[in-house]
Amino acid sequence: MGQEKAISIFWFRRDLRLDDNTALYHCLRENSNVLPLFIFDESILNKLENKTDRRVHFILLALESIQNRLTGLGSTLLVKHGSCANIFNDLLQQYTIDRVYANHDYEPEAIIRDKQVEALLTKSGATFHTYKDQVIFEKDEVLKEDGKPYTIFTPYMRKWKSRLATLSVEPYPSESLLSSLMKITASRLPSIEDIGFKPTDMLLTPAVAEEDLIKNYTEQRDYPAINGTTRVSIHLRFGTVSIRQLAKKASELNGTWFNELIWREFYMMILYHFPHVVNSAFKPAYNLIEWRNNDEEFKRWCDGTTGFPIVDAGMRELNETGFMHNRVRMITASFLVKDLLIDWRWGEAYFAKKLNDFELASNNGGWQWAAGSGCDAAPYFRIFNPTEQTKKFDSEFKYIRKWISNVNDFSYPQPMVDHKFARERTLAAYKKALKNQI
Ligand SMILES: Cc1cc2nc3c(=O)[nH]c(=O)nc-3n(C[C@H](O)[C@H](O)[C@H](O)COP(=O)(O)OP(=O)(O)OC[C@H]3O[C@@H](n4cnc5c(N)ncnc54)[C@H](O)[C@@H]3O)c2cc1C
Repeated sequence: MGQEKAISIFWFRRDLRLDDNTALYHCLRENSNVLPLFIFDESILNKLENKTDRRVHFILLALESIQNRLTGLGSTLLVKHGSCANIFNDLLQQYTIDRVYANHDYEPEAIIRDKQVEALLTKSGATFHTYKDQVIFEKDEVLKEDGKPYTIFTPYMRKWKSRLATLSVEPYPSESLLSSLMKITASRLPSIEDIGFKPTDMLLTPAVAEEDLIKNYTEQRDYPAINGTTRVSIHLRFGTVSIRQLAKKASELNGTWFNELIWREFYMMILYHFPHVVNSAFKPAYNLIEWRNNDEEFKRWCDGTTGFPIVDAGMRELNETGFMHNRVRMITASFLVKDLLIDWRWGEAYFAKKLNDFELASNNGGWQWAAGSGCDAAPYFRIFNPTEQTKKFDSEFKYIRKWISNVNDFSYPQPMVDHKFARERTLAAYKKALKNQI
């Protein structure tokens, strides 16, 4: 039977912060006995093959940071491991739960999970309240004049900005309401081993997008040897920073950087309206491309031994650190798809395993952009030349040498393919697949 005094639950998901958190703000304002909860969802964790996963470690570090603040206030974070439905069923046995609050998640599997949880809460007489938090505009908030979703970035971005001009994006000061949290003895957080993983070298670095860096972003962002991008992607992914705070900074400091934040929302909007992109090309004709899909060649790409230094440096940066510079993401993706003619979904899946900032919408959008199959993608005949890209963006081999110490030695592999030949091969394969479209 439930405990006598009713409680409300705030369910953390990809919003791991106490400050400026929309649903947490509403929850604490409307309730006085709030229990914060996080669930390590076994359906997500079980799919992670590598049990030394920096992302799982990052989540735990973010939870520890939240827990430190909560215990100082005489409250606690409840951290569970299992299936979300089972855990809510158990909690409904243990407590009288009035309301559960959470922020929106737009991924297809998350939408299904939330519907299931909502149904079982409703059955027990509890209500589920969800809010927009991880974006400035969601779902149907930025549409074309005809009421349909945009599929081209520039007009979407213009409409997005014109909508923003009519609103003031204010923070939700959840941090000022923490006295509404349930007073309870601190519960122990699980260790990384408790949830079946091992520690990594991951650190919870603060989410600072430095002003100087943002001001110089336009000139510096394309050079991977320069520390010229903000590295906020992991924080946006897990919600350890508020998008409202970043968007405000962006609008004041740099239009180019502002647009990158809007690209993120564009891809989230695309995923929400066109969930078929998860498994297939946004433009159906691109599903007809006859990929070569050579396993050995794929392995060389993954390992960073293609013999194309800029590609190999990127893959080695990814394998060693879980990060890759955006320009190099574009080059490595283009190389896999257009020089090796390997299905973009193979590359997408590899990035999904390795990227610390892996985010379904942006990763899928980035890959479909490189393959030419996405909405507003690079035209299929635009094929990055790795040598030309290196001349433009790493002419002194500074980035390359950081990741490949033997780049000038005999021990470094010869290029695995002739770019000119590969380019023609790809153009022919694309033309064949798209013959009715072009
Ligand atoms: C093939 C490919 C795969 C990608 N996969 C991911 C992914 O899984 N997760 C991810 O967050 N980004 C992804 N990106 C986009 C981009 O590479 C990263 O967001 C960026 O490199 C992160 O570094 P930063 O935080 O220093 O970015 P900054 O350049 O400082 O940009 C600030 C923020 O804007 C957003 N942003 C920037 N560029 C893009 C973009 N092209 N598309 C969408 N959002 C963008 C990110 O949230 C980023 O943190 C991918 C790009 C490509 C080409």
